[in-house]
Amino acid sequence: MRFITYNLKNFREIEYMRYLPEETKREIDIVSRVIPFKTNNYVTDYLIDWENYEKDPIYVLNFPNKNMLTDNQYERARNVLDGNHSKLDINRTVNKIRMEMNPHPAQQMTNVPVLDGEQLTGSQHKYRDIILFFPSQGQTCHAHCTFCFRWPQFVKDLDLKFSMREIAKVVEYIKRNESINEILFTGGDPMVMSPAELSPYIDALLDPDLVNLSNIRFGTKSLAYWPFTFLPEFSGEAEDMLKLFRRIVENGKHLSFMAHFNHPVELDNQVVREAIFNIRQTGAEIRTQAPILNHINNDSDLWARMWKMQVDLGLIPYYMFVERETGPYDYFQIPLAEVYKTYQRAIRETGSFAKTLTGPVMSADKGKVHIMGIVTNPVDGNKYFMMQYVRHRDYTKTFRPFFMGYDEKATWVDQLNEVKADNISIHSV
Ligand code: SF4
Repeated sequence: MRFITYNLKNFREIEYMRYLPEETKREIDIVSRVIPFKTNNYVTDYLIDWENYEKDPIYVLNFPNKNMLTDNQYERARNVLDGNHSKLDINRTVNKIRMEMNPHPAQQMTNVPVLDGEQLTGSQHKYRDIILFFPSQGQTCHAHCTFCFRWPQFVKDLDLKFSMREIAKVVEYIKRNESINEILFTGGDPMVMSPAELSPYIDALLDPDLVNLSNIRFGTKSLAYWPFTFLPEFSGEAEDMLKLFRRIVENGKHLSFMAHFNHPVELDNQVVREAIFNIRQTGAEIRTQAPILNHINNDSDLWARMWKMQVDLGLIPYYMFVERETGPYDYFQIPLAEVYKTYQRAIRETGSFAKTLTGPVMSADKGKVHIMGIVTNPVDGNKYFMMQYVRHRDYTKTFRPFFMGYDEKATWVDQLNEVKADNISIHSV
């Protein structure tokens, strides 16, 4: 199957556009100036039910709609496009709207490591044992998720991107920081790179002197957005890609795919299943993660079904995330109390192999905050969220339960009041 990309310029050529009224196409045209839009022929042909496109989760996942902007933002974008405005004016308005959408949540810009006085701007070092690496060629995806928290990576006009070609500097940084034992290739999606592009990075990391690095991860949605990458009968590069994975494993490194699946439909065809099989044959493991999102997967039965499918295919459920405060999050966010209850109902339905999952988790400024439960104080009858950091900039602060005041409507941890454990008769250790 030949890879065909659809974006703002050519989306009207998608044959299924006949299902959409002209007004909806115009809305896509307007909102896509702000929210990066890209899809492809696998997504449109295999994953979307066009007869019910408005409610289809993968349609919502890929096609921006009017409700993803505030009324005011939508009107400003529409006015500047409809009027007789210069390209410069249009870009100014669009960028202003983007800056209102919190492009770098959790202070990502503060995690840039420094080597000999030079900032390694294509990487992030937040947790002591892992470094994130943003290869220049991997700063896009096979399709773009409308909720994406990495959306500034795809925006040409904003100077907000992380990326870097100089892997040698990252290797040197890892050597000098012995606590680092993992590297995560991220983006975008590193699996948009060809094996020839990826190989030099991997060769550098297989340096025998880099003894502290034992784990290599790829954060990727390629299995959901373009599984042909791993099928030699469809892709001339697939065999080389699979060979590269085998080489990593044969060199004694633990290789893990951090595969992003938002919905069971993404696992429900022969193409993705064969791709999963081929990757696992190389000795790589596949862990799964995704956020819970309104309009896409806010349903406990759906999550239980998805985790069961994943386990049956040999995948390892890893994280269920809370949607981050970035991009069109008003449209996707769900109150934490509801998120927790959905998680609880779903995880109860799974067998033991899905219990590897940690959820729900917020990727916040200081680290990953895990909602452990909602508890009631028997003394005063008040409700609280019980939480812990499963990751923290200061690792000594991980796995220490703490309590936050309950708020049924809160959608992020910083909207809650912290409560001293002594006040609720339970002591954290
Ligand atoms: S696959 Fe990941 S990085 Fe790419 S658009 Fe989706 S959420 Fe963003």
